[in-house]
Amino acid sequence: MNGKVYLIGAGPGDYGLITLKGLQLIETADVLVYDRLINENLIYRTPARCEKIYVGKQAANHAMPQDQINETLYQKAKEGKTVVRLKGGDPYVFGRGGEEGIYLAERGIPVEIVPGITSSIAGPCYAGIPVTHRDWASSFHVFTGNFKDEIRGLNFKNIAELEGTLVFLMGFGNLDYITEGLIGAGKDPETPMAVISHATTRRQKTAVGTIATIRKICEEEQLTPPAISLVGDVVKCREYLNFFETRRKKSALILRDARQSDIFAKKLLADDFEPVVCPIIEIEKRDASPELKSAIENAASYSWIVFTSPNGVKAFFELMKESGGDLRSLGHIRFACIGKATAELLANVGFKADLVPEKQVSDALGEALKERLTADDRVMVPRSAIANNRLIDIVGEVCPVDDIKIYDTRIRTENEDQLRALLSGGEIDYIPFTSASTVEGFVKALNGDLSCLEKAKTVAIGPITEKKMLKLNIKPDLVAADHSLEGVIEAMKGDR
Ligand code: SAH
Repeated sequence: MNGKVYLIGAGPGDYGLITLKGLQLIETADVLVYDRLINENLIYRTPARCEKIYVGKQAANHAMPQDQINETLYQKAKEGKTVVRLKGGDPYVFGRGGEEGIYLAERGIPVEIVPGITSSIAGPCYAGIPVTHRDWASSFHVFTGNFKDEIRGLNFKNIAELEGTLVFLMGFGNLDYITEGLIGAGKDPETPMAVISHATTRRQKTAVGTIATIRKICEEEQLTPPAISLVGDVVKCREYLNFFETRRKKSALILRDARQSDIFAKKLLADDFEPVVCPIIEIEKRDASPELKSAIENAASYSWIVFTSPNGVKAFFELMKESGGDLRSLGHIRFACIGKATAELLANVGFKADLVPEKQVSDALGEALKERLTADDRVMVPRSAIANNRLIDIVGEVCPVDDIKIYDTRIRTENEDQLRALLSGGEIDYIPFTSASTVEGFVKALNGDLSCLEKAKTVAIGPITEKKMLKLNIKPDLVAADHSLEGVIEAMKGDR
C-alpha cells in the first residue's frame, strides 16, 4: 500500500513558528526530506527510526535537482512510508510545493499540505514592520526577485503604481535591479525600504533606508542572504514595534535527549530565555533481555524502588507494560526519587513518592533511605547503565540492593558540527549541564577541544555534575543552588 506525503511549512526560522499540526506530523515521520533554512530543532523532533534526507544547498555543493526530489518523495511513499517534506516558510510561497504535490498526485500518492508562516510576512513582523496598516498600506504584494529560472522579469511599471507594501523574496543578489527598476518606473526614491536578513533567527539583522540608499546601507551593515526586501511607508512603524531586535533574549543550549528537551524548553521560554536544542545524548530504553524481564516481573518482591531520574521511571513502566505486568502488584512498594521532576513523573503514572530528599543528589537519597531501611528490606534501583555506584554502596550497607541497568545513554557525536558552529558563532549565552552524562557527551562530541566554550557561560545543576565538569576541564561559571531545572534557570536569571 502507498504511504502518504505531507508537505509541511516549517515557518521562517524561529523554532516556535511552526504549526501544531506540522509538529505533530513531524513526530510521526518515517522519512524526512528537508531543505536549507529549516530550524535544526525541528529535525530532532522526528522519531528515532526516521530516515532524514537533506536536499538543500550546501556552500560548495548544489542542491538536489527538483525532479530528483520529486522522485525521492514518490519512491519513499511507494514503499508505504509516511513522508514529511519540510519546507521553509509556507510550502506554496515560492516553495515549489505545488510542483511536488502535483507530481505525487499524478502518480496516485495521497498528499496533504500543512501551510506554514511565510517569511514574507513573519520577517517584516520580526523587524517591527506590519505589512499592512490603515494609515500606510491597505494591501501587500509579494514578488520573487530571482529571475534565473523565471521566464519574465518584473513589470516595474505596474509594480510602481501599486500603493501597497512591496515584498521581494530571493532578491538580495538583485537589489540593484529592484531599486533601479522601481525608480526608473517612477516610484519615489525617498520611499522607505528595509532589508531583513536571517529573519526570526538569532542572526536577524535589518537595514533601513530608502529605495535610493538601501543598497549602500546593506553593504555597510554587512547583511548576508537569505533576506527579504520590503518597500513602503509601513517601515516607519519599526520605531515602535521592533520588539525582537531591541530585546534579544539570552539563549540557553539544551543538550539532553531530544525527546526530553521539551520540558526544559518550555520552562526556559516561560522565563524569557531562548532554548536552542542540540542533543548530544540519547536515552535508549533497553530491550527486555531475559534478565531484565525477570527483574521487572519480580518487582513485587522488593520493598523499595528507587528512581534516580525521570528516564528510570519512564523505562521501568514501559518495560512493565511490555512484560504484561499489573500495577496492582506494586501496591505495597515504597518509592524513593531523586528530584522533583522524577517524583512528578511517578505521580503521573499514579504512584506517590514516599521519599524525595531536599537535596537532589544520589548520596543524599542514599543517606535518607538508609535511615528507613532494615536488613529485611530489598531495594531495586532501575537506572542508567552508566550511573556511578555510590548510591548502591550506601544502601547495600543495610540490605540487599539490585542495580538494574534499564536504559542506555548514547552519545550523539553526529551533532558535533552543529554544536561547534553554535558555540563558535557566539549564538549561545548559557550552557546548562543537567547531568554528568551530558558533560561527558559534550566533551566527547567536541573531541575534547573546548576552545569554542569561551563565548558562553556554563551552568552545573548540582555537585555531581560540577565534579564531572571540573574533571573534564570545564570550570562552571554558575552552580544551581536548587539541583533541578528550575534551579538552573534561577542561577541563569541571577546572572542575566
Ligand atoms: N517558502 C518560503 C520562501 C522560499 S524562497 C517562505 O514562505 O518563506 C526563499 C527566499 O525566502 C529567500 O531567498 C529569502 O528571500 C526568503 N526567506 C526565507 N526564509 C528567510 C529568513 N529566515 N530570513 C530572510 N529571508 C528568508
